[in-house]
Amino acid sequence: MAELIYSKAFGAGEEIFRIGDRGHNAYFIEKGGVEVLIPGENGQEIRVATMGAGEIFGEMSMIDDAPRSATIRTLAPTELIVIQRSQFIRPLEANNPMMSLILRILTARFRDARQQTNSDLGDGDGELEQSLEELRVLAYERISIEKDMRHGLETGEFQMHYQPITDLESGEIAGFEALMRWIKADGTFVSPVEFIPLAEETGLIVELGRMALETGLRDHADFLAARPDGYAANPAPFMSVNLSGLQILELDEIGRLENIINQSGIDPSLIKLEITESLMVENFEHACTALGQLKDLGLFIAIDDFGTGFSSLSYLHQLPLDTLKIDRAFVIQMDQSEKGLRVVQSIAQLSTALGLSIVAEGIEEKEQMSALKEMGCHFGQGYHMSKPLPRDGALELMQTGPVW
Ligand code: C2E
Ligand code: CA
Ligand code: CA
Repeated sequence: MAELIYSKAFGAGEEIFRIGDRGHNAYFIEKGGVEVLIPGENGQEIRVATMGAGEIFGEMSMIDDAPRSATIRTLAPTELIVIQRSQFIRPLEANNPMMSLILRILTARFRDARQQTNSDLGDGDGELEQSLEELRVLAYERISIEKDMRHGLETGEFQMHYQPITDLESGEIAGFEALMRWIKADGTFVSPVEFIPLAEETGLIVELGRMALETGLRDHADFLAARPDGYAANPAPFMSVNLSGLQILELDEIGRLENIINQSGIDPSLIKLEITESLMVENFEHACTALGQLKDLGLFIAIDDFGTGFSSLSYLHQLPLDTLKIDRAFVIQMDQSEKGLRVVQSIAQLSTALGLSIVAEGIEEKEQMSALKEMGCHFGQGYHMSKPLPRDGALELMQTGPVW
């Protein structure tokens, strides 16, 4: 399959396209620069603009498929990110014809306005230019990070780390949470807090999510095998994998996740999927259907970051949930005031009443661990026990059979 976004290098003085060509691609300038040329008198070309790194050109013809209105030539060795019509506009036409119509109308109006501005008004509308400039900067950032992420996915820059979740009663490892890490080839670390939202916006979360499940389950087979005799034997430790609600917008994806589970050979009852409450509440009916289908695979479902999304309890009890993860913010507040303590207590009581198991997140001190155990929380996770570890570190930890 052709790549969605790719880079292409050009020498100085090369023509990217000519006036009158059909426009299939738009281009972001990564490095170098180009000139924009229109025909002048006596067949000479007039340079009407130059563009440099971070600027986009060719986007209008890409949208409305109209002939190019200028010739573009490189001024220096130049690298361009190519955005293809077939990959961006065609799917939009098929899936969202109204949106693609609106885009075409806007493009036509813009062409019109630009022509008038050029001929009558001279300098152009400052405000419009400025908001377009802001949009351009945003679009450029998005497109380059998406390109980096795709590249990273292909070259194995995304890895899974594992944080133990402990059984507060026995102090043994009850499971792990798989947490994604992006370590770029040059060693830069990008936090999931940064890249997961971008992956959600670009749709790349679907592929990343599959990778998380596949890798998490493969590594879990090793963790299970590494347990010392009799350690955390009953029940065997689970693997918790984060699932973005956007991964299951299309129900077809559930079939793909099922394949990954089947191929892993891991008993589905040792798999837990963590989903944040906000995404469940946004489209409640769809969430019910999707979670129901996931449950039918025999796995468990946790509501993540509980308490941060203002979800209504009346909604929650209708969802097929097994576990509630109390957000770290509550565990912190618990130490700070009597009220904070009572909030955690009531969440714990509520969960018990609904038959849900509870994981308290972000335990950084021994006292928090004991207090949460007192309140009836079943599981705990946090730096006090262990930070998330690379696969080999988690494997070693399991081999030592720790008790906290
Ligand atoms: P989360 O699912 O709530 O994961 C728990 C986060 O809390 C992790 O941050 C973990 O390192 C951190 N944490 C655990 N114990 C402590 C503690 O005692 N103190 C403090 N200060 N932090 C603690 P991390 O790994 O940076 O992940 C951030 C978020 O990114 C996750 O929050 C999750 O929402 C998202 N994420 C990570 N991996 C994935 C993934 O594979 N798929 C999806 N959809 N989201 C992911
Ligand atoms: Ca989580
Ligand atoms: Ca969480």
